[in-house]
Amino acid sequence: MSLYTKIEWKEFRDNVIESDGYKCTICGRDSTEVTLQVHHKIYIEDKLPWEYGLENCETMCKGCHAAEHGIIKPKFGWKYVGEDDLEDLSGTCENCGASIRFVHVIYHAKWGFLDVGTLCCDNLTDTEIASNKRETQHLSI
Ligand SMILES: [Zn+2]
Ligand SMILES: [Zn+2]
Ligand SMILES: [Zn+2]
Repeated sequence: MSLYTKIEWKEFRDNVIESDGYKCTICGRDSTEVTLQVHHKIYIEDKLPWEYGLENCETMCKGCHAAEHGIIKPKFGWKYVGEDDLEDLSGTCENCGASIRFVHVIYHAKWGFLDVGTLCCDNLTDTEIASNKRETQHLSI
């Protein structure tokens, strides 16, 4: 489970896909043939993935979406977006697969959004934003 299982995201995702007529805006295949995903066309500082306007997003199938972002996940240049406390270890770090409670959302222009744990967040953003947040709350995970 990740941030993308949140109800806010599901509702937003459904709205984008509906507004694009339930098909990929690149190849035109529909939800009966392919898995549809939401691509963010621009990056807006500090906004969570579902806080964007519909006009800033478009529906793409999994394949077209992967091609749009490139296949290899960038190792640097990630920007910190925000965090969410799941209140238990139900989250998964999309970088290393660890179970996490505090989900940090980071963004890269070549990749899009990624949910990561505190350690991976520090590494990928090359900052201590995530671990500093943990310290102020006296929690280590
Ligand atoms: Zn497509
Ligand atoms: Zn995308
Ligand atoms: Zn990780």
